[in-house]
Amino acid sequence: MRTAASLCLPILFLLAAVSSTQAYDFFYFVLQWPGSYCDTKQSCCYPSSGKPEADFGIHGLWPNNNDGSYPSNCDSSKPFDESKIRGLLSSLQSDWPTLACPSNDGTNFWAHEWEKHGTCAESVFDEYRYFKTALDLKTQLNLLQPLQSAGIQPDGGSYSLQSIKNAIEESVGYAPYIECNGDESGNSQLYQVYLCVDSSGSQLIECPIFPRGKCNSQIEFPSF
Ligand code: 5GP
Ligand code: 5GP
Repeated sequence: MRTAASLCLPILFLLAAVSSTQAYDFFYFVLQWPGSYCDTKQSCCYPSSGKPEADFGIHGLWPNNNDGSYPSNCDSSKPFDESKIRGLLSSLQSDWPTLACPSNDGTNFWAHEWEKHGTCAESVFDEYRYFKTALDLKTQLNLLQPLQSAGIQPDGGSYSLQSIKNAIEESVGYAPYIECNGDESGNSQLYQVYLCVDSSGSQLIECPIFPRGKCNSQIEFPSF
């Protein structure tokens, strides 16, 4: 006669195998406001392709767990290979510009994001798909537009954090997490916007957990 254990064990092994192929639960898609990267004490450098457009730029697509932890640098055997993303270069330059110093063409930033975050989602993305998915998400979200329609302009003015969240939620359908940093005088300002994407990278979802950290209730939206 077969015992309960003999029936359950194969199922448990199967479950373990399925869960081990996916070492994360969802993605954060993170966009940065260039004005807020640049007006800090540390300042910034424009990429060699020139000053980016006054728009949100991509920071990264980051695998994350529901408990807030996240994997990183998962596969050193898949270093960034520029030849795989040749067809995306002009989109990457305009939509994923680097602002770090010294001035460079962006390859360092893209390589860092692929190696630290992208290699942790290899079960869904190869390098090309990782970058293409992020570029398509940025186009789909088109974040500046709903903010401007709500009268929230990158003009150095002060806006309520809630009004920023509301404008984005109304347009996207999900509440964003807003990360602030400080300008040179220490004013709290809109630095990064986080939205969440399901583990297959195919659709936006409600964020299972938000990162820690708080903005002031009124924040600056600097020009760029
Ligand atoms: P910071 O310490 O500046 O907030 O973050 C430094 C880097 O750590 C980020 O650029 C990102 O690579 C990673 N990181 C920080 N917070 C999170 C998080 O909540 N989830 C994931 N997946 N990565 C994070
Ligand atoms: P994280 O580990 O925070 O995902 O990635 C941040 C790393 O990318 C840092 O080493 C930072 O110097 C580099 N980096 C290059 N360009 C940029 C940029 O435009 N914005 C940010 N936040 N980091 C950049």
